[in-house]
Amino acid sequence: MRQKKRGQRYDKGPHRFNRFLGNCPVCDKKFTTSSTSLLEERGEMRTLYVECAKCDTSVVLGVMRNAPGIVTTVGMLTDMRREDIDRMKDFPPLTFDDVLEVHRYLESS
Ligand SMILES: [Zn+2]
Repeated sequence: MRQKKRGQRYDKGPHRFNRFLGNCPVCDKKFTTSSTSLLEERGEMRTLYVECAKCDTSVVLGVMRNAPGIVTTVGMLTDMRREDIDRMKDFPPLTFDDVLEVHRYLESS
């Protein structure tokens, strides 16, 4: 098991998440905020759902702001669909235990 963290600048604006989303683990297409839904925001952790516009792969991303200016992103493949989001009122957020189990990390190129 291997953990990888990426320290990145955290800025504001509508596209502030773009740089944290990484690439599709299947086809390597860059994710964009336009294909992203915010599932939950809790403290410094945001849980995002992303659908690849190219191959339709679904990924759940945990974006953690560890310190001012430092953001860590982890991603997991999921079979959840966008239409499921509205039905999931108690969607469990990623926890640090989940993070330890994640083997796939999205890399920005
Ligand atoms: Zn893809």
